[in-house]
Amino acid sequence: MLTLAQVKLKSQARLVDLHPVVVAAAVALIERSYAQGVPIIITQGYRSKAEQDGLYAQGRTKPGGIVTNARGGYSYHNYGLAVDFALLLPDGYSASWDMKRDGDKDGIADWQEVAQQAKALGFEWGGDWTSFKDYPHFQMSFGLSIAKLLAGAQPTPAQTTVAYAVIDKLNEEAGELSQAEKQELAALRAEVKDLKEVVAGLTKSKDVLKQAVQEQGSSMGKVGERVKKLEDKAALAKIPDWAARYVQAAYDVGLIDTPEGGSFDFYRLMKILGQAGILPAEKEG
Ligand SMILES: [Zn+2]
Repeated sequence: MLTLAQVKLKSQARLVDLHPVVVAAAVALIERSYAQGVPIIITQGYRSKAEQDGLYAQGRTKPGGIVTNARGGYSYHNYGLAVDFALLLPDGYSASWDMKRDGDKDGIADWQEVAQQAKALGFEWGGDWTSFKDYPHFQMSFGLSIAKLLAGAQPTPAQTTVAYAVIDKLNEEAGELSQAEKQELAALRAEVKDLKEVVAGLTKSKDVLKQAVQEQGSSMGKVGERVKKLEDKAALAKIPDWAARYVQAAYDVGLIDTPEGGSFDFYRLMKILGQAGILPAEKEG
C-alpha cells in the first residue's frame, strides 16, 4: 500500500507556480482523498499561455482528441488557479481516468469521491459544467471571469482568507478524532488503567507468593526433619535374617553403601529386588 508521503511526492512538481491557496487546497485534496482510500495524482497545475496554446491545438491543428476549449490566457490554469487530477493506481506510478473505478471498494466511484472532496475544499469541478465537461479539472475562480484575469485582476486578500478558512476547517476536522475514534480511545484508556491495576496486583501477589514459598520452605524443612526422625525411628537395630543375603549382595555390588541402619521397608525392598533376580548374587545353595 502506498504511503501518503509517496502519494504526495508524485504531485509535488505539479504544484509549482500555483496560487498558494490552490496549493493548499490541492494538498488537502490529496490528503483527504488518500484518507478515504483513493490515492490521486495532480497531473496538471500551472500552465503558461504557450503551453495552453499547444494544448488547444491538440485535436484541431495537431493530432489527438480535443482536451480543452481554452486558448492561451483563457484557462484558469494560466493563472495558477486550476489543477487536473487522475487516480493513482496501486503500483504507485500509473494513472487512471476511469471514472467508474472503485479502488477502495466502498460502492462509490473513486472519481466522485475526489470530486466531492474537492468541492468541499472550495474547488469548482469541471464535471459540473454543462457546455464542456472537464472531469479531471478543479479550479478556484474567486468570482473572477477570464476577462478580468486577462485584464490583470487577482483574488483579493479577503477572498484568499475566506478560501484558506474553508481548507483549514476541513484540515482541523481531519485532525480531530471522530466520535467512534473517541469512544475507542476511551475504551483503550480504561483497558490500560485496568492493566495497570492488574500489574500492580501481580506485583503484590508476587510478594505474597514469595512469602508463601518461604513459609512453605520452612515448613517443608520441618517436614523433612520429621521424616528423618521417623526413618531413624524405623531403622532396625539388626538386619533381618530374611534379608541378610540380599542386603549383602547389594552391598557387594556397590548398590548400597552400608548394610546396616535400614528400615523394615528398606530390607523388604532388598529382598524383593533379590528375589526378582535384580541383585546378582544368590549364594543360597
Ligand atoms: Zn484543467
